[in-house]
Order: sequence, then C-alpha cells, then structure tokens
Amino acid sequence: TTVYLNGDFIPAEQAKISPMDRGFLFGDGIYEVIPSYSGRFVGFAPHIDRMHSGLGQLSIDPQLSHEKWQHIAEQLVADNKAELGDNLGVYFQVSRGTDTKRGHAFPTNVAPTVFGFVFAIPPEPVADKAKATIYNVVTGQDLRWQRCNIKSTSLLGNVLHYQQGAEQGAQEILLFDKQGNLTEGAAVNVFVIKDGVIATPPLSTKLLPGITRQILLAILAKHSDIEVQERDISEAEVLAADEIWITSSSKEIAPVLTVNNNPVGDGQVGDVWLAAQQLFSSHKFDY
Ligand code: PLP
Repeated sequence: TTVYLNGDFIPAEQAKISPMDRGFLFGDGIYEVIPSYSGRFVGFAPHIDRMHSGLGQLSIDPQLSHEKWQHIAEQLVADNKAELGDNLGVYFQVSRGTDTKRGHAFPTNVAPTVFGFVFAIPPEPVADKAKATIYNVVTGQDLRWQRCNIKSTSLLGNVLHYQQGAEQGAQEILLFDKQGNLTEGAAVNVFVIKDGVIATPPLSTKLLPGITRQILLAILAKHSDIEVQERDISEAEVLAADEIWITSSSKEIAPVLTVNNNPVGDGQVGDVWLAAQQLFSSHKFDY
C-alpha cells in the first residue's frame, strides 16, 4: 500500500509519525473520508470544503488547495487500485503537528502533519430492496461534546456510543440530546419518514454536517416532489416512523429495519427509501 505523508507518496510501512504529534497526544486534528468508485469521487468538493471549515475552526492551515487535495487523492487511487480494487475510501487527516513538549496551548512554528491513505469499501449500494444492506439500531442519550459539527479525530465519544450499540447487538445507535431530540448516529446522519414526508434534524453544533445528507437533500430538492423537512425530531416520532434511514459516505442511504428490537413501520425496506436511493445513485456523481 502506498500512502501520502507530508508531501511524499511512500510505502505504508515506511510512514512514520512522532508520538509527540498532537494528533496522537490530543486528538488535535481533522479527518475526512471521500468515496471513490472506479476513480470517480462522490462529493469531492464538499468533502474538502468541510475539511477546510473544520481546520479553520481549529486554526490549522496545511496550505493545500482543492486542486492539490485532488491530485493527492487521484495519485493514491492510482497507486493502490491494483491491490485494493475499484471501491475505495480516501482518508485524509491533518493534525496540528509534532511539538517538542506537551502543552495544551497551540504551539507556534509547528507544521501540520498531513496524512492520506485509501482503503477498500463495499461496492456502490444499489437501489434494490432485496439487495439493500439493512441495519438494526438501538437508541441512547447523546453524551458527546458540544461541537459535533467538527469532524475531529477525537472520536472517543463516537467510538463509545458505537460500542454501546454493538454490545446490544446493533450496528448503529440513534442518539438523542437532553431535550429528547434526535441528533445523529455514532457515524451516520439520520432520516425519518412518516406518511411520505422525509424529516432530518437541522444542522447545528450537535451533529456532523454529513456530505451524504447534503447531497441527498440537494438531489431530492432538484429531482423529486417529496416533501423534506429539516426540523427537530422527538424519540416518539422515531419510534413511530414508517421508515428510518441512516446515511454516510460508504453506506449512502441505508434502511433501518428495527429500533430497540421493534420493527420500523412494517419491518420491510420501504418505498420512499427505494425512490431516494434510486435518485441518489443516478445523480451522486454530479456533486
Ligand atoms: N455523523 C458522523 C458522526 C460521522 O462520523 C459521519 C461520517 O462517517 C456521518 C455523520 C456521515 O457523514 P458523511 O455523509 O459525510 O460520510
């Protein structure tokens, strides 16, 4: 495997980062995952925009343009596709850099550490009820920090919540804030469908602005008449939904069939999901 580290494309086993790196000591960094199918990226520009936004909020500037990021991604795909195949996730991570001492304050004169690699992801999801990857989820209180809009490498809160679900036999966990409103999952955004209307929580500091969410909303607005609401969603509404979907870059739109071991709607993959995944599959490369 070839990886990118601080300007160089090198074999993975030669890539070395100091344990004094603030990414390691503090989780002081931002990451991004961009899907690539046969060399075509989904949402490359919005993914880079989100990464730049997160880096800006942390005052980290790796001084790389969209064009440079694209070049790195294309090179990583080209160098690794023979080994890893055509369905790849491009992972970028930028940390504040390696310091000589451990202190919370931002160090001066430290260059950000920029790392990129690719990994195999499942084939493109297909708009076919029989072939959908389905999910069973549980619910829980969102115990993460109050800046979940930042795609921080400090993923401990998400890791613990994911594990909380896994220990109950679930593949995701739907999280609710103190007011009882849905935020997101451990690694996904969430959509709830009732009587043909799609709802999803509005963007805020309580959830990651998912690129799949963003692209799906844009596609639905442009190519369908389905009503979409960005609004607060209570746990009662989630439990009474006809359909629930979870979205992420590698899953696209995935149907949830049980919540806390109870069927969602009629317990089958839904018609609105089929329509949405069809539209997503047709238009995702436009973004
Ligand atoms: N929410 C969280 C916490 C995530 O980690 C992710 C990404 O994996 C998402 C939502 C979905 O975001 P995207 O659609 O950009 O992959």
